[in-house]
Amino acid sequence: MKFEISLDIENVKIKNVEKSEKGDIVIYVKSTVNEAFCRKCNSKIDKCHGFDNEITLRHLSILGRKTYIRIRPARYQCLFCNNKPTTTQKLSWYNQRSPNTKAYEEHVLLQTVNSTIEDTAVKENLGYEAVTGIINRYIECEVDWNSIKKLETVGLDEISLKKGHKDFVTIVTGRTNETVIILAILKDRKKVTVKKFLQTIPERLTKTIKFVCSDMYDGFVNAAKEVLNKNIVVIDRFHVAKLYRKCIDDLRKKELKRLKSELTEEELKGVMWILRKNSNKLSDEESEVLNVLFNHSEVLGKAYKLCNDLTSIFEEDITKKEAASKINNWKLKVAESGLSCFKTFLTTLDKFYDSILNYFIDRQTSGFVEGLNNKIKVIKRRCYGRVQYKIVANRLFWYKGITACFNGELFSVQQLINFV
Ligand SMILES: [Zn+2]
Repeated sequence: MKFEISLDIENVKIKNVEKSEKGDIVIYVKSTVNEAFCRKCNSKIDKCHGFDNEITLRHLSILGRKTYIRIRPARYQCLFCNNKPTTTQKLSWYNQRSPNTKAYEEHVLLQTVNSTIEDTAVKENLGYEAVTGIINRYIECEVDWNSIKKLETVGLDEISLKKGHKDFVTIVTGRTNETVIILAILKDRKKVTVKKFLQTIPERLTKTIKFVCSDMYDGFVNAAKEVLNKNIVVIDRFHVAKLYRKCIDDLRKKELKRLKSELTEEELKGVMWILRKNSNKLSDEESEVLNVLFNHSEVLGKAYKLCNDLTSIFEEDITKKEAASKINNWKLKVAESGLSCFKTFLTTLDKFYDSILNYFIDRQTSGFVEGLNNKIKVIKRRCYGRVQYKIVANRLFWYKGITACFNGELFSVQQLINFV
């Protein structure tokens, strides 16, 4: 069986492809670029002076297998400088200090949007430090605006570099229908930092921005409002869901402590995950677990129903005005229920009310959904020829996992593995 795969790397020739003992794909390449720039005088030089030691770079997976590129970087000698120094050739598709190709690093960065470093590390089978290393290398890197035709949606997401939510960096993405690209990794998530970056977007491109998709975070929302048009900030429904799901999570913890003496361990099995699922996706068995639980805890039953009601509103194809009325009704129901667990959520809801409702204008969400479609496209493209369906299906499993998050079910990838 034969199939062709595009490496998505310019100006290289494949010398050989091997499978390692672990089943990884190792591709030996040679650069077809025949020049370098002298490190001393910066002149263009083309006198070859041998090769450096072979280096190995991680690249985008092919058919679900880890893929590495091996190359011996060429050295060139300068005949203009006095002592005729030699320089290692720099190539556009990797940075000399990085163990990965740029394409792979960008892929990893996109994976961190609406995810965590831990989850990204698990998904990519990379260490935690490898992921933070990639993020750190991209901080303060400048984007080549000339290569971008339009932006349509700008995404502002934060990610914590340390477990325990300290040291946030901001990931700025640009999205059109076809692609998601990393525009910048900003060193923190302060309003001034974000503003300063947004101001560097050329006017030609700011004109093409229709929406700014943001985390529920003042710094982002205000920076976008101040630099761009104030009506285009959209809070991703994913972040809204995360917040109201946390309310029920906290209540569950409190209630389960109280119920420990009343219910057996068997009866409480898997309750945490079941509560995080949408009610229309429960199996009979899961529904039964919840019935038993709600018989012992009326408040948890009420809170669960309210959460699902709110998710349903976000699923409906309605206008912003209709959504406003439905969400107001929902707030009344919360008040009538006498539940206190949604208190912090209601405060946040009011604070970002208009931006949250902007979701209903064009149903914009943060990068991962578009990223997801994009990824599926890439996989399809990578698999032309005869497709090994099983491997592709395995790959797609992850994306299905991410989609599950989107429907208001907050499973991290690791949780999903444990759960399925
Ligand atoms: Zn020179």
